[in-house]
Amino acid sequence: MSLPKLLRGGGALSAGLRNCRTCSSSATSARRLRVLVDMDGVLADFEGGFLKKYRALYPKEPYIDLEDRRGFWVSEQYEKLKPGLSEKAMSIWEAKNFFLDLDPIDGAVEALKEMSRLPSTDVFICTSPIKRYQFCPYEKYAWVERHFGHEFLEQIILTRDKTVVCADLLIDDRPDITGAEPNPRWEHILFTACHNRHLSMTPPDWRLPSWREDWKELLDSKRQHS
Ligand SMILES: [Mg+2]
Repeated sequence: MSLPKLLRGGGALSAGLRNCRTCSSSATSARRLRVLVDMDGVLADFEGGFLKKYRALYPKEPYIDLEDRRGFWVSEQYEKLKPGLSEKAMSIWEAKNFFLDLDPIDGAVEALKEMSRLPSTDVFICTSPIKRYQFCPYEKYAWVERHFGHEFLEQIILTRDKTVVCADLLIDDRPDITGAEPNPRWEHILFTACHNRHLSMTPPDWRLPSWREDWKELLDSKRQHS
């Protein structure tokens, strides 16, 4: 698939985000491309894993099919479906082994391994653990080790605020990523998920429909303009 088809909202790079000037320590590092890849909804199938466990634990409660999911926050849509359901929804991802048991998104493991082997490319998994932290941070590390190997543990960034992380690209399924830094250095590529596929994109926003698409073209495009 050609690049324009991937970039439903348009293909132009934002002028202010063409490189990572403030965090580049040398000309050599400036030529490398640093890519942040989100975990839940991009590498790990949070939505599918949630629905499976929710239906098993609460078989008599109403649920939302993945094709009917709207909005980033699962708990908000469930609360609208029936008052009190947000608590039950949260109990699913706060439970032991929820994050560890998530299946990889189709094609994600192969794509990320390939990306990390590309020359002049630094790849980090950038993920926000839930604040109920008894299991989630540990299980995220264990999940990465299980699917990517021990050496990939060097490439994990746990943060609740991705705007303060300096990189060229952030591949993430959350449409609105805000935080302490009003002008993040990365350019956001929206990874398509059940909850965001209906959102229309406005140029110069980028979208990656799946790992089966030619994500390398997105990296090459960014590299050429950095
Ligand atoms: Mg996500």
